[in-house]
Amino acid sequence: MKRIQHTLRILLAVAVAACVSLPAAAQQSGLKGKKILFVYGGWDGHEPRQCMELLKPWLESEGASVRLSQSLDVYTDKELMQGTDLIIQTWTMGSITPEQERGLLDAVRGGAGLAGWHGGLCDAFRSNTDYQFMVGGQWVAHPGGSVDYDVDIKDKRDPVTRGLKRFHMKSEQYYMLVDPGVHVLATTTFRSHPEAPWIEGTVMPVVWKKSFGKGRVFYSSLCHSASDFAVPEALEIMKRGIRWAAASRQASAGAKK
Ligand SMILES: [Zn+2]
Repeated sequence: MKRIQHTLRILLAVAVAACVSLPAAAQQSGLKGKKILFVYGGWDGHEPRQCMELLKPWLESEGASVRLSQSLDVYTDKELMQGTDLIIQTWTMGSITPEQERGLLDAVRGGAGLAGWHGGLCDAFRSNTDYQFMVGGQWVAHPGGSVDYDVDIKDKRDPVTRGLKRFHMKSEQYYMLVDPGVHVLATTTFRSHPEAPWIEGTVMPVVWKKSFGKGRVFYSSLCHSASDFAVPEALEIMKRGIRWAAASRQASAGAKK
């Protein structure tokens, strides 16, 4: 019962967030007809199921077909991976076998998009450097736990962040090791924390996009829990990033012409 109440609370919060008017999102290619593989699992503290339950109805309302998997073995299904437009993964920590990792990396290298947030993408499979090379960053700390912080829009022209303004979060502020080659869309600046005073003033990427082979990779470090998606900007950035990454195959086909 408690869980149902929790889920209802999240759904209500997100419904409210969806009603808050944000500047018109640049309508990137939509999700109509897109085949999305949604892989969820790993450490339960990041509420992988609740996040999936929150995003899946939206993906379907946009016309995407969503296949769910609670097993990383799905990455070894070559045919399925080749027919997938976008992989959404929320899988904190855990481990991945060499075959599963190869399947995922080959799919993205071959043109599938990849999107994720927080630890579900950039704190997964800590010992796999090839995976980290693909996603573009790795979480290392969140000083102070859940803290008040601001997110600054760095790229005001990109369709993912266009029209958005600085916004506030009360959640984990991710301190990450980030590939300098990523395209940073939003950042946050650390205050001093008793446990790590030297990080004061450090500007850290929060949202980025990058390529891996022919594939598009999108990441946001926001949203420790499903209820964090109630922050309208956090949800909107994720939706726009998903749309961008889902157009990966079209974009790489277009580039060939
Ligand atoms: Zn977290």
